[in-house]
Amino acid sequence: MKTVLMPQKEVPVLTETEVLVVGGGPSGIAAAIAAARSGAKTVLVERYGCLGGNMTVVGVESFAWYRHEGTIDCEGIGREYERRALEHGFARPEPQSISHVIDTEGFKHVADKMVLEAGVTVLLHTLFVDVILDKNRVIGIVVEGKSGRQAILAERVIDCSGDADVIAATKAPFTKRPKDKLMGVTVMFHCAGVDAERFQQFVKHDLKPTYADWGKNWTVKTSGKEEKLFSPYLEGVFARAQAEGVIPGDAQAIAGTWSTFTDAGEACGLNMVYSFGYDSTDVWDLTKAEMEGRQQALWVIQALRHYIPGFENAKLRNFGMTLGCRESRQIIGEKRVNEEYVLNQGRCEDAIGIFPEFIDGSGYLILPTTGRYYQVPYGCLVPLEVENLLVAGRCISADVIAHTSMRNMMCCAVTGQGAGTAAAVSLREGVAVRKVNMASLQAELLAQGVRIH
Ligand SMILES: Cc1cc2nc3c(=O)[nH]c(=O)nc-3n(C[C@H](O)[C@H](O)[C@H](O)COP(=O)(O)OP(=O)(O)OC[C@H]3O[C@@H](n4cnc5c(N)ncnc54)[C@H](O)[C@@H]3O)c2cc1C
Repeated sequence: MKTVLMPQKEVPVLTETEVLVVGGGPSGIAAAIAAARSGAKTVLVERYGCLGGNMTVVGVESFAWYRHEGTIDCEGIGREYERRALEHGFARPEPQSISHVIDTEGFKHVADKMVLEAGVTVLLHTLFVDVILDKNRVIGIVVEGKSGRQAILAERVIDCSGDADVIAATKAPFTKRPKDKLMGVTVMFHCAGVDAERFQQFVKHDLKPTYADWGKNWTVKTSGKEEKLFSPYLEGVFARAQAEGVIPGDAQAIAGTWSTFTDAGEACGLNMVYSFGYDSTDVWDLTKAEMEGRQQALWVIQALRHYIPGFENAKLRNFGMTLGCRESRQIIGEKRVNEEYVLNQGRCEDAIGIFPEFIDGSGYLILPTTGRYYQVPYGCLVPLEVENLLVAGRCISADVIAHTSMRNMMCCAVTGQGAGTAAAVSLREGVAVRKVNMASLQAELLAQGVRIH
């Protein structure tokens, strides 16, 4: 590849902190709040103008759609997201579970309140671009924004960027599957002008969809108990629309779920475009997938208007502000959670939380209807070969199937809270994050209301 040599440049230090969190999605918000609540001076850096990550900028509202009567769920900051959204009137009952969706616009405000109440210093519109290393110790980062290129110095850094951007800027090892194997990317969208009542009647009396209908983009192996459960899923209508010339394009990438309806006739959280072969760490791919996804979403609406009762007058309300990406880099950590562990109620000494046995993607759909759960090990947040750095969220150390469980937003909040607390405890006790005292860490997490056993 052709390169250019940039001149060395003195960079002003924007601020100094004890704990620095990069990325303000479900993992990053939890990491920052947990670090601040544990007494550390904490800065949270986010590239967009709001917090929430996929919960807001992509438009993923179904935060805990796995929860059933028998589910043993985690406790901690993720559960607070739901409670606080409900208190602010930014939550609605989720259609396939006993949970609430979190309104993707309202959560921007809820997240602001939560981080500010915890005493976190937030920098929005601030893009991480590089790490500052002293040998193999991270001592800060370089950011870019409207204020130019600046440095932030920190004693501990937590990478919650989803794509492990900080890790990639160090020499720490990570994995990333070839792009034809990565989970698909999605342009989420929302419609206005929908007659929800008419649609619900059609679903109840004609469509009667279950998880057994999942086929095209989500070919799934279930544990059997899922097959008969209701699932808000549409598939066949799009192939029909293509065959009958209702949509001009290729319906290959179209199939998926709806979420909630508002009193104003909006259909929210339409997750019906699933495009394969894109790498979310490649700007060419991101550009192509955004544009193709928007086109596919408009074809979805065209088909819905033509065939689906209640959608006759539906119009696009908005696309998610950015493409939704499910999988890219996974760090190689002190521990790697694997398929066998998440499918067999894995237990560990270094638990920082629990997550129900919920696997969604890469060929599996298992819902935690029976109270089964696994413990989340601290070791999968600790990268090899680099010090002062932790990760949380979807880029933790996990194999393909474990990732499809741990990528879920609630579990990202579990790893975020674990990482933020560990960073603060390691500072307080003057030890490296790799050597943090598990008894102290677990005691602090229990004091914060986290469920460990
Ligand atoms: C279409 C779609 C549907 C999904 N559906 C569900 C679902 O129904 N339920 C569920 O639980 N999960 C779902 N997921 C998965 C889930 O949304 C993600 O796995 C989860 O949001 C990951 O959380 P995170 O905190 O690791 O990363 P993200 O949510 O991606 O947040 C990362 C944050 O870091 C910021 N950032 C990234 N790079 C930088 C940088 N260089 N500098 C500064 N900031 C940066 C981003 O702007 C973002 O705010 C879905 C995912 C997609 C794409």
